[in-house]
Amino acid sequence: MIEKFSYGKTADGKEVFRYRITNNPGAYVDLITYGATVDRICVPDKNGDLADILVGFDDIEGHETRSNYQGQTVGRYANRIANGVFSIDGVEYRLTQNEKGKTCLHGGGELSHAVWNAIIIDDNAVEMTYSSPDGAQGFPGNVDFKVVFTFSDRNELKIDYFAKTDKKTVINLTNHAYFNLDGEGSGDILGTVLKIDADRFTPTDEDSIPTGELRDVTGTAFDFREPKPIGKDIGADDEQLKMCKGYDHNFCLNGGEGPAVTAYSPVSGRAVDVYTDLAGVQLYTGNFLNGTRAGKGGRPIDRHAGFCLETQFYPNTPNTPSFPQCTVEAGGKFLSSTMFKFYIKK
Ligand code: BGC
Repeated sequence: MIEKFSYGKTADGKEVFRYRITNNPGAYVDLITYGATVDRICVPDKNGDLADILVGFDDIEGHETRSNYQGQTVGRYANRIANGVFSIDGVEYRLTQNEKGKTCLHGGGELSHAVWNAIIIDDNAVEMTYSSPDGAQGFPGNVDFKVVFTFSDRNELKIDYFAKTDKKTVINLTNHAYFNLDGEGSGDILGTVLKIDADRFTPTDEDSIPTGELRDVTGTAFDFREPKPIGKDIGADDEQLKMCKGYDHNFCLNGGEGPAVTAYSPVSGRAVDVYTDLAGVQLYTGNFLNGTRAGKGGRPIDRHAGFCLETQFYPNTPNTPSFPQCTVEAGGKFLSSTMFKFYIKK
């Protein structure tokens, strides 16, 4: 069942809507058209109690003015492009340098802060669309974006991303949900147990730009091939962790049959498996959240209040020929799919 509500207006007067997809067992997902945002995910714990497991905001003002991309769709190019510049076929494109006046982070925030159009396409699916003009944030091509959110009776949230462009361009889309499997506002996520099916990760420079190296995780704090709490090695004597004040790194997924990532909280029993057709996932442990911004219920969003699993092409791909490329030809299409499957682990 899907219900549609008004979610108020943006500062410049655009109306925003909220869609609630409730499945037959009674779990639900709220989506808002500002940023094509996953606003709430309410799934049961081991006692059958529902709680909202997404860190975020209660109103449009929070999403507009206090957000660090909470739940938002991110693009045109999720993650970073070094020095806000890249070239296609010898033509240089200069992008918005919205991080330290240097890097282009999350496509300059364009998709995340746009009001999308939405339609209900099934009793458990909502489609959102947004058209970005040629040259937006410096990127080439008129690009039509479409994101379809489906929430099944098995508590699977599937996010399908589509785009088509009239000019050769780069596209990298993700969702920036901050999960707290014990319920948002219930402390830090350091005890959450994580398993990532990745033999390698991409170490970065001080601007969080991958150096190009694919580093073996063996013997490092980045080895999540056997499940371990996020907090176990987060304070390890590792220059990569120190530089980013925790995990804020792209893992190179092995691409096996099973889930790319599994996260589990021994406290609530809630677990999530993440499946994706993309080659990378950014594990971000909310290192730069610092309690100065109010979130849901007016509570401060503290450091490590949530963790993000941003499925993606590797960061700075357009400037790193050795990485799997995300170029889309003129007239071509971008397709990608990520699924979060929530369940209870006894
Ligand atoms: C980045 C972090 C950043 C966060 C919020 C993540 O994808 O990797 O460095 O702080 O987004 O912008």
